[in-house]
Amino acid sequence: RDTLKNRKIAVLGSRSVGKSSMIVQFTESQFIESYYPTIESTFTKPVTYKGTEYTCEIIDTAGQDEYSLLGPKHAIGIHGFVLVYSITSRKSFDMIQVIYDKIIDFCGVMDIPCVIVGSKMDLDSSRQVQTEEGESLADRNKAAWVETSAKNNVNVAKVFELCLAEIEKRAPRSQPE
Ligand code: GDP
Repeated sequence: RDTLKNRKIAVLGSRSVGKSSMIVQFTESQFIESYYPTIESTFTKPVTYKGTEYTCEIIDTAGQDEYSLLGPKHAIGIHGFVLVYSITSRKSFDMIQVIYDKIIDFCGVMDIPCVIVGSKMDLDSSRQVQTEEGESLADRNKAAWVETSAKNNVNVAKVFELCLAEIEKRAPRSQPE
């Protein structure tokens, strides 16, 4: 009965923080250097986590700023959220709380299954956001947190495992299949 559970995961964050690169690294095991802004696409990958097979449907978004409205596409029917900032951009970090609050408002809930991701950890010499800041932001919002490098494929799979864990933690039985 537990085979092939479908889990929809939306990936949000400022433009050019590396959302697409992370998803492409996860689903296609490659890092594409060239930058092209994402319009909106969905990637699918089977994932086995704690003995359960999932189909992860990962929604890559165009990128949000303070003025973006959160549409129903990014909230309704979504099981889990991955919110990405770049450790090299303070501005992208500040956007995380803004996006988080928009999701909470839109969904009318207290908290959501969520992983906060500090991307581009290979660029440590340009770091603007300390690890402790990322951790405490996640703590305050009851979210998981991890730093990643899509370039070096560090912690990329972990993001999606953490997201599945957050989803299962909150609603082990009542998730739509
Ligand atoms: P998106 O707009 O959030 O989807 O960002 P992209 O995935 O298009 O990445 C934006 C830019 O950051 C591109 O030039 C990527 O090559 C670069 N980038 C993405 N991830 C990493 C990373 O882990 N390390 C480094 N050094 N660059 C990255």
